[in-house]
Amino acid sequence: MTELGTALMERLDALAAHSQDSSDQGGRALTRLFLSAQHKAAADQVAAWMKDAGMAVHLDPIATVVGRYEGATPGAPALLLGSHIDTVRNAGKYDGNLGVLAAIAAVAELNRLGERLPFAIEVLAFGDEEGVRFPHTLTGSRAIVGRFDADALEGRDREGVRMADALRAFGGDPDSIASVTRKPGEALAFVELHIEQGPVLEAEGLPIGIVTAINGASRFSVRVRGVAGHAGTVPMGHRRDALVAAAEMVLAVERIASSIANLVATVGRIEAKPGAVNVIPGEVVFTMDVRAPEDFVRDAACTAIRTELEGIAARRGVAMTIEGTHNDAAAVCSPAIIERIEAAIRRAGIRPLHLPSGAGHDAMSFAGALPMGMLFVRCKGGISHNPAESITVEDADLSVRILLDLLRHFDHETLRA
Ligand SMILES: [Zn+2]
Repeated sequence: MTELGTALMERLDALAAHSQDSSDQGGRALTRLFLSAQHKAAADQVAAWMKDAGMAVHLDPIATVVGRYEGATPGAPALLLGSHIDTVRNAGKYDGNLGVLAAIAAVAELNRLGERLPFAIEVLAFGDEEGVRFPHTLTGSRAIVGRFDADALEGRDREGVRMADALRAFGGDPDSIASVTRKPGEALAFVELHIEQGPVLEAEGLPIGIVTAINGASRFSVRVRGVAGHAGTVPMGHRRDALVAAAEMVLAVERIASSIANLVATVGRIEAKPGAVNVIPGEVVFTMDVRAPEDFVRDAACTAIRTELEGIAARRGVAMTIEGTHNDAAAVCSPAIIERIEAAIRRAGIRPLHLPSGAGHDAMSFAGALPMGMLFVRCKGGISHNPAESITVEDADLSVRILLDLLRHFDHETLRA
């Protein structure tokens, strides 16, 4: 009995046809950039499915497709659901798209059964989550809560096209983006369903989980200066090898991160100079990315890492500087939404697992502005941003049923951020 899942998977396949470079990866890869012709075709398709589900549909000025299903009383405050329909290059079919189409499927069920809730539902299909084409990202979701940065409109893609011009050509309106912001009392909360993009649910044998927070991230550039020298003539005991020192530092980062629950740290790039086979490296620069669902945990870990790296540098007689290059606070999900999602998962007879999100999502735009929460759906091998992205029809089916159950039981009157 997975008719809802089967129908949802068919739609996900159909939507994936709106892609450029579909010959890549044997036609399985999906590339759909913000404000592209493929985005337009996908937005039109999503709008048609929203209409079929009984929703009033419009494209808002920042190119979000908005479908509204009225509650028992027309004009009631709306519970916002949704995710994004843009993709990275050579993406899979489920990242973002699953959350939009599962929400439409849940509303379609209400509509089919003639059910009206005490509040309205709006499904939002954002166009700009991945940030691939223009320098800014999350513009659609940020606009909903009045956090749109007008500088984004001046950003250009690699062909030199200005975002404001692309938006106008798409059917949006750069001059009236402020009108998108929901007034107090118009929106109740934002709930996003998304594939996990990690391996935790699969490893736990669970189809669905509850997101606690979207990790904050700190990034650093670490520079280590030793002394370059001849690889043949300088004895081992006389060396101040910047790369060996950096190697010890990388291992220390791994060790510290591994000792802290839910914290991850990565050295993703390293460069040694002068970079010759017969020269002892005199200088090394590496990056460090540290993420955690709680800011105080991340800050403490960054301090511990810094202290450890300074100790290694002192012991090895090399100089070191650590420069912060990026800092994003964690977006904590609202306890009131977590509670409601957990109850829906329990009612489905599933063990409720709480987990942080290591990746960014539209939901983070709402943190602190509107009660916000997320559900994660298991994906095969934790793989995403890859044509091999995969979910099962059973999990797709359950996603719609749990969303539907969440809507039916959603206590909107006692909602608190
Ligand atoms: Zn996504």
